[in-house]
Amino acid sequence: MKQSMTFIPTLREVPADAEVKSHQLMLRAGFVRQSASGVYSYLPLAQKVLKKIEQIVREEMNSAGAVELLMPALQQAELWQESGRWYSYGSELMRLKDRHGREFALGATHEEMITSIVRDEIKSYKRLPLTLYQIQSKFRDEKRPRFGVLRGREFIMKDAYSFHASHASLDEVYEKMFQAYHNTFTRCGLDFRAVIADSGAMGGKDTHEFMVLSDVGEDTIAYSDTSQYAANIEMAPVLSKYERSTESLNELEKIETPQQKTIEEISAFLQVSKEKCIKSLLFKVDDRFVLVLVRGDHEVNDIKVKNLLNVTVVELASAEETKNTVGCLPGFIGPLNVAEDVEIIADYATSAVVNGVCGANQEDYHYKGVTLERDGRISQFADLRFIQEGDPSPDGEGVITFARGIEVGHVFKLGTRYSDAMNATFLDENGRSQSMIMGCYGIGVSRTLAAIIEQHHDENGIVWPKSVAPFDIHLVPVNIKNDAQKDLAENLYQQLMEKGYDVLLDDRQERVGVKFADSDLIGLPIRITIGKRADEGIVELKVRKTGESMEISLNELESQLE
Ligand code: ATP
Ligand code: MG
Ligand code: MG
Ligand code: MG
Repeated sequence: MKQSMTFIPTLREVPADAEVKSHQLMLRAGFVRQSASGVYSYLPLAQKVLKKIEQIVREEMNSAGAVELLMPALQQAELWQESGRWYSYGSELMRLKDRHGREFALGATHEEMITSIVRDEIKSYKRLPLTLYQIQSKFRDEKRPRFGVLRGREFIMKDAYSFHASHASLDEVYEKMFQAYHNTFTRCGLDFRAVIADSGAMGGKDTHEFMVLSDVGEDTIAYSDTSQYAANIEMAPVLSKYERSTESLNELEKIETPQQKTIEEISAFLQVSKEKCIKSLLFKVDDRFVLVLVRGDHEVNDIKVKNLLNVTVVELASAEETKNTVGCLPGFIGPLNVAEDVEIIADYATSAVVNGVCGANQEDYHYKGVTLERDGRISQFADLRFIQEGDPSPDGEGVITFARGIEVGHVFKLGTRYSDAMNATFLDENGRSQSMIMGCYGIGVSRTLAAIIEQHHDENGIVWPKSVAPFDIHLVPVNIKNDAQKDLAENLYQQLMEKGYDVLLDDRQERVGVKFADSDLIGLPIRITIGKRADEGIVELKVRKTGESMEISLNELESQLE
């Protein structure tokens, strides 16, 4: 590509509103331009990198047995109503109406869409497992879009969904996807960790986030210095165990198993005002504690108690959301394996709600000593301590260290949360109807682009890893008006391209200082400078990463490039 023909609007100054390096560099090196908060155009260089990342993702997905498709971003509200997420997703879901007043959402993720497609076509275990993926723009009305494309409102995601007849089959594909993610991020040149993303009832093995280590990451990871243990701090367990609340726990232990209720009864019952739903309860179920959080208008993420050791947290949405959320509970539990866990918990938890919270008027059913703060934080548990640096690792090996991470990928065993809600069933070997078991797997493609820059830059600009560089070689004639330089540049440009290199030729009539500054900013792995010794057939080869440079003759060039 000739630089005079393409569009790389570089900037000398650091844009004032760009806080993090990747954002600054993407603006300065002419990769992106913002159009609205969290909405960006990817200019030609960024588009090239995105295509390379996507290619890596596709190769890894395909070799893991996933098949590409493309679903609509425009999704009818009915689908989201079926799953319940129309009510529970909140304002992050972009909603709109068509000219007839019909409601739609712009896809924030595609569980509903894919489930509706697969349920209509697949009826037998013989057609399972099936893993489908797409690469597409997603829309989320983030509360705080920031750091450029790291947290956008429109962003590119690879999302994959798997469908299974058995949990064993899901485990197998999950493992493959995990490995594919590992390969993908390694090939992108990233230093990352796969961390436990939820310590829920399934023992924390069923959802992992892939975190790129970076100080600008919005997540904190707790990892062991000697073992594989790594968890999102939000999911890392609390160390101490409720010493101060023994009294109330004793009280709770006396409670007999609450009567069981069907989901229908509960959802009917939950049609109470929002105000009544802002209390929470703690239960002991066998050797586990079950904390029931009834959400008011609070963000799920604010509720840190998710991670209490030995505690299963059941979070209910507001009454309005809950009554519309199929199965009531699953809507806000997110990663919990709904099929296996919630059924058990639901009976306790929802009874708790029925008896203790929603039935706030029934004085008899108030449980002493477990009054919680409005936002779900528990005053009695004040001495509970979240894991800290220097604590022993929960797996007993080594000591905990903290690091900041950027979430670039997330793999997730969904179980039957969507298939139950949306009636995606198949006939098993015995001709019995079963809910499909699902997994989902996301990669933030555009976020990965920025994460790579966070990890690969210096004071002069971006330093692309070869695998994802927008071009392989930057060919820079010092003075394009000099015939020897111009001719050599043109020849070399053709030859290198014939050899399969992707070359950017700086054929602009710019001062050499400007060309070099732009070249460092753009950060291609190799720069070949054609200067005074062009007529002798000697050029300068410079490695962007190390700064190492050498004068070489053209016949040495090829071997040096390898
Ligand atoms: P986050 O915790 O950063 O908000 P998430 O957990 O909501 O991300 P997922 O629903 O797991 O995101 O989506 C899969 C992937 O999509 C994420 O791992 C991330 O890489 C990417 N992603 C999510 N939200 C954004 C966003 N606003 N901008 C860019 N990429 C995003
Ligand atoms: Mg999010
Ligand atoms: Mg997340
Ligand atoms: Mg996630």
